Amino acid sequence: MAAQGEGAPANAQSEQIDAVIVGAGFAGMYMLHRLRELGLSVRVFEAGDGVGGTWYWNRYPGARCDVESLEYQYGFSDEVQRGWNWSERYAAQPEILQYQNYVADKLDLKRDIRFETRVTSAKYNERNGLWAVETDKGDFVSTRFCIMATGCLSAARVPDFDGLDDFEGERYHTGGWPHEGVDFSGKRVAVIGTGSSGIQSIPVIAAEAEHLTVFQRTANFTLPAGNRPLTREEVERSKETLLEDRRHARETPGGIICFEYNETLAEEMAPDALQKELETRWDQGGFAFLGAYGDLMATQEANHLAAEFARAKMRASVKNKDVTEKLLPFDHPVGVKRLCLDTDYLETFDKPHVDLVDLRENSIERISKKGVVCGGKEYEADAIVFATGFDAMTGALLSIDIRGRDGAELREKWAAGPRTYLGLGSAGFPNLFFITGPGSPSVLSNMIVSIEQHVDWIAGCVKRLTEGNIRSIEATREAEDEWVAHVNELASETLYPQANSWYMGANIPGKPRVFMPYTGGVNVYGEKLDAVAAADYEGFQLGA
Ligand code: NAP
Repeated sequence: MAAQGEGAPANAQSEQIDAVIVGAGFAGMYMLHRLRELGLSVRVFEAGDGVGGTWYWNRYPGARCDVESLEYQYGFSDEVQRGWNWSERYAAQPEILQYQNYVADKLDLKRDIRFETRVTSAKYNERNGLWAVETDKGDFVSTRFCIMATGCLSAARVPDFDGLDDFEGERYHTGGWPHEGVDFSGKRVAVIGTGSSGIQSIPVIAAEAEHLTVFQRTANFTLPAGNRPLTREEVERSKETLLEDRRHARETPGGIICFEYNETLAEEMAPDALQKELETRWDQGGFAFLGAYGDLMATQEANHLAAEFARAKMRASVKNKDVTEKLLPFDHPVGVKRLCLDTDYLETFDKPHVDLVDLRENSIERISKKGVVCGGKEYEADAIVFATGFDAMTGALLSIDIRGRDGAELREKWAAGPRTYLGLGSAGFPNLFFITGPGSPSVLSNMIVSIEQHVDWIAGCVKRLTEGNIRSIEATREAEDEWVAHVNELASETLYPQANSWYMGANIPGKPRVFMPYTGGVNVYGEKLDAVAAADYEGFQLGA
């Protein structure tokens, strides 16, 4: 229906739609499917020209998931899943994007997605109880439900280096990689950043480039992913138990079933047994390592044992003794920054055409016409790759001008850190939902499990509202305050707040230092979600 909407710009035609979803990654796609099942009219706005979210943008060489393929897939439909066959233990970006397109086509999702369209504002109108959503393409939509599926790591960030625009060579960010790919052969390449994206891309870029200089500010813990092709039998066998496995994943702390957390404390284990446990889990590859004993993420002493083990393994992977110690992380406990999984990362520094510049000695002074200047030296490059990360968890959300009751700005409300109830909603913003928002397990879990948990909960809530003829739902201030305090308290019982991580907002100058994800685990969190829904959305206010 096209009509002049309340609050619309003078000459704008507004459409009225039951629900708007922002983002067409895993979260937006599944949310669209669930709301359509409820019979709602839905419009998804997506900045890219295709579905995929994270996997649409992050096409850098070597991009690969760090959760195993058989676990990193939807669990809501046996039929959908049976039609898909993963080829590797950890799927590479192109395969995940193909999978997402397969699901989108199978469920005929694309017809409700407006691509290449960025939402610029969402404003709540108290008089009619509708959100007015505007886009950069001039759309103006009135909607009852506004659902942010904007992703936790989708606002790519290049640091504000002096002279950035002076550089005359090619410039890339891992989180916005050209779709046609980049040919680095015969080129001198500089990579800035050694988080997951840097660590995955560096070996692949090194294999192609004539020369590679890696600029490292913080050495990270990394362990071999142990990637390999999946056998046909493994793939077929996984289909037999798929839905059951996905349900089971929700009952675990991390939404992952390929390993279990050992609850025994380090001091309760004999030293040999502890080392054996670490060894087995290191060899297994992936995040199993962090579940080796119960207090690994809780005390410095216990963590130190795993950190020392990891450093010894890392040390043994590099022959070039000039760089070995520089590649080892000593300034943070293991696991408090996202653990990196790699394929031949450390070994790459044994290649004669690969150099490491340790920014702990001298930070980057500026970018010049010809390259990167640091410690008074200019490192010339034909291309600079910024693997410098994201304005995580809040960046994409707050890039939209979101205003709730009385025109209150979400940006202002969150100026000292995000405030949500359950990571799902914020007081003063009725019918606005965040999928995997700050205050929920999100990035500390298998994202797909957390996404499905939230989408299912939101769909149940929307059903309750529409069937009950209830106009709105909104977190109460009290419930929100209690939840924020609870999330902070849980985090303070762990080692997480001790690192300058993006979990803490520490990678963005001026961003408040608050630990954003919920550390209590997907399983405990899920029980809370169920209890809230069963108590007719306790902690939320339902408005007639
Ligand atoms: P990141 O972990 O935030 O790493 C950014 C890197 O850039 C860090 O080494 C950082 O150093 C460095 N950096 C930032 N600003 C800098 C500056 N001004 N000067 C010098 N160095 C600077 O970002 P990311 O690697 O893109 O990864 C983000 C997250 O995305 C990961 O933690 C993970 O959750 C997810 N991810 C997952 C996968 C996967 O599934 N395999 C792959 C890629 C990313 P500091 O550490 O000192 O800040």
